[in-house]
Amino acid sequence: MRVKFWGTRGSIPTPGKDTTRYGGNTPCVEIRLNDNNLIICDAGTGIRALGDALMATGESVKGYLAITHPHWDHIQGFPFFKPAFISGNEFTIIGAQSRSVTLRQMIAYQMDKVYFPIQLNELKAKINFRVIREETIPVFNATLTSIFVNHPSFAMGYRITSGGRSIVYISDNEPFDREVARSLKNVDTKIVAKYLAVKGDPNQRVFDFAHGADILIHDTTYTPEEYVNHVGWGHSHYLFSLKVADEARVKKLVLFHHDQTHNDEKIDEIQRKCTNEIRTRRYHFECVAASEGMEIEC
Ligand SMILES: [Zn+2]
Ligand SMILES: [Zn+2]
Repeated sequence: MRVKFWGTRGSIPTPGKDTTRYGGNTPCVEIRLNDNNLIICDAGTGIRALGDALMATGESVKGYLAITHPHWDHIQGFPFFKPAFISGNEFTIIGAQSRSVTLRQMIAYQMDKVYFPIQLNELKAKINFRVIREETIPVFNATLTSIFVNHPSFAMGYRITSGGRSIVYISDNEPFDREVARSLKNVDTKIVAKYLAVKGDPNQRVFDFAHGADILIHDTTYTPEEYVNHVGWGHSHYLFSLKVADEARVKKLVLFHHDQTHNDEKIDEIQRKCTNEIRTRRYHFECVAASEGMEIEC
C-alpha cells in the first residue's frame, strides 16, 4: 500500500512561511491499495489539493472516505473536493454518528445555505454513507477496522489491512487517565462514562488495535510540557505516541496532527527528540514527522 499526506496540521489551517515544509492544511491522508483503489482518511483542507490531483487524471473516481469525527479540521475541506461535484464519480463516506447528529448531517450541516452556497444534495457525484461503530468491514480488496478512541464527543481510529500489511490512522487521541477523566469538567460526561465502563485500560485497547501495524499515523499535537496545560482537549504528546508505537510493536510511527503553534523548526525539534528517545529506550521502530506531500509505502 502507498500513503500520501495532503494535510498534516491539527485543529486549524496554518498557512505561512513558517509552515512550508510540514504544511498548513488540516488532516487528509490518501491510501492506495496495491490495486490502486482509493481510501481517503479525513476531509480536512488537504483534500482540496487531493481532489485537484484526482481531477487532473481525467478519469472517473470511485473511493471511500473514512471520517474520524466531525470536528471542523476533519470535514472542512469536503465542500472544496472537486470530484464530489462530477457525475460518474462515487464516494462512500464511512464514519460513526452520535445520537443527535447523523453521519450525513455531520457533512451536510456545514454546507447548509447559511454557511456555504452549494448544498450536499446538489453534488453530482454519488455520495453514499456507511455508518459504523467498532467493527470490521470490507473496502475493495482490503478490510477496514474501527475503534473509538479518547477524544471529546467521539473520534474513531481506523486500521486498513490488505495483503498482510496494515496502516493504522489515529488522528486525534488523548492518553487516557481514569482519575483525570473523573475530574474533568469540560469533557462530555457520556464519553467519560463510556470509557469508565470499558473493561480494561482504554490505552491498552489502542495498543492492541495498532498491534503489529506496518505504519502507525498517530496524533502528536503537543510536547509533554505543553500537554500539562491541555489535559482533556483530546490530544497526545510525543512521549505517548512513542509509547503507543512501542507497546503496539509497529514498524513505523508517523507523527501527525501538528499543533497550530508549531513552526517547521519546532517540528524538527520534536522529531529530533523522538529519534533520541527511540535510541535511548532501544525502541524498534522508525519515526518520521508527517509533512505535506510525503509518501511512504508498506
Ligand atoms: Zn483534529
Ligand atoms: Zn478533534
